[in-house]
Amino acid sequence: MNRTPDLHHIISPAVRDLVELANLDNFDRVTEQVRNLRGCTRPVNLVGWTATTDPATKTVLRSYSTADEPTGRLLTACGNRRSSRCPACSRLYAADTYHLIKAGLSGGKNVPEAVRTHPRVFATLTAPSFGPVHNRPTTSAGKPRPCRCGTHHPEDAPELGTPLKPKAYDYTGAVLWNAHAGALWARFTTYLRRELAAQLGMTQKALNAALRVSFAKVAEYQKRGLVHFHAVIRFDGPDGHTTAPPAWATTDALTHAIHAAARRAVLVVESDTTGDRRIAWGKKIDVREITTLGDGELTDQAVAGYVAKYATKSAEDSGTVDRSLVCHPCAGRGYLRGPDNFRDLCTDCDGTGQAEPLKDLRVQQHVRQMIRTAWALGHLPEFAELKLWKWAHMLGFRGHFSTKSRAYSTTLGALRDVRHAWRTAQAQARAGLPAPDENTTLVTECSWQYLASGYRPGEELLAAQTRHDTAQARDQTERAKTEGDPWL
Ligand SMILES: [Zn+2]
Ligand SMILES: [Zn+2]
Ligand SMILES: [Zn+2]
Repeated sequence: MNRTPDLHHIISPAVRDLVELANLDNFDRVTEQVRNLRGCTRPVNLVGWTATTDPATKTVLRSYSTADEPTGRLLTACGNRRSSRCPACSRLYAADTYHLIKAGLSGGKNVPEAVRTHPRVFATLTAPSFGPVHNRPTTSAGKPRPCRCGTHHPEDAPELGTPLKPKAYDYTGAVLWNAHAGALWARFTTYLRRELAAQLGMTQKALNAALRVSFAKVAEYQKRGLVHFHAVIRFDGPDGHTTAPPAWATTDALTHAIHAAARRAVLVVESDTTGDRRIAWGKKIDVREITTLGDGELTDQAVAGYVAKYATKSAEDSGTVDRSLVCHPCAGRGYLRGPDNFRDLCTDCDGTGQAEPLKDLRVQQHVRQMIRTAWALGHLPEFAELKLWKWAHMLGFRGHFSTKSRAYSTTLGALRDVRHAWRTAQAQARAGLPAPDENTTLVTECSWQYLASGYRPGEELLAAQTRHDTAQARDQTERAKTEGDPWL
């Protein structure tokens, strides 16, 4: 007779797997690995080893191998920036971005505190209009007015940002604008320096020797599917944030130069098929001074918070899909070349070049039309370098979501290194190992291989627990903040 209950019938596969994990030699290590991932949705599974030797004595000082792990592998966080992919890693990314932006505004993390006295502004540059869209306009006094269609749209209305007359909307212009938004920004920064030199009556060379313009920017999608940029723009001395800008470099001069440079920066895109297009910024340019301390003003913290929030957003937030639409086997061409060098229709996509038919995408009609336009323009040789098939799901935008100039502040990499070093030191202290002697040059060898992504079903349960604990701790901190609890 079988004395143990038949688990196969009464519990879920995840619980069964958890029981299996619990019976391993070192279950504590299993839970520790999962806890270290801080709730990551799809961790990367690695196998491999690393060993550190002293070349003089040839003794192995430290070694680690996944063969010694209870599950034979190491789980590492996916590190994805996008909240739609991994809320936990995206939150960490947002926190890092916050500190990076904040350091560039108020100092800290190796940035001198004097940086807060440098003139700096928060600027928003948007795309021009490509046809009227449904919106929620207000009067100059801030009172809501009806949309041009005659309705008062609620805040979450799906039609917001979509064209009033889709047939008359300039989709080609909209997609080409997104595709050149990064280049337009680059052009703007060049003009910004030129404008400053002109304003101050200096040569470009003299200006560069005395002043540096540092910036950190994020791209965000508007409801109408066009990207816009938010940027912290700051004056520094010639060596970046460590040096003060000259006294004549004022916030007013910066504000004026931004407006002038935004008006002047124009790209001309030539095409016989679509006609030549001027790529320029829209008229709505917002430039606001960032204050150190404020009552209702735009403060360091507020700006860092905005930027961090935007940095984890992605194209999906404007209702598009989160994956490339290019058919993998034929790279979007729709055909493959056979051994006879003749074109064979790609059987994966039936010659469309698309990984999934655009008409089947679960997106709004407006978004589908942006994607379709990007795809159609991708066939034109003059736009080949824009790689519009690859970026069709991004509605043409192929730039980076967050970028900063080298001198702005610390880097995300540096923040990650600090965290990594801290964790390593912690782990070593736990293992009773001495900290490495800084005077000897040790040799570290390693070999790593990607195994898979995701958790075992039992680990998934442990991860859910971690997420629950983290969320509770976060709620408590938030509550303490709002209630002003002196004990937290
Ligand atoms: Zn993750
Ligand atoms: Zn409307
Ligand atoms: Zn194909």
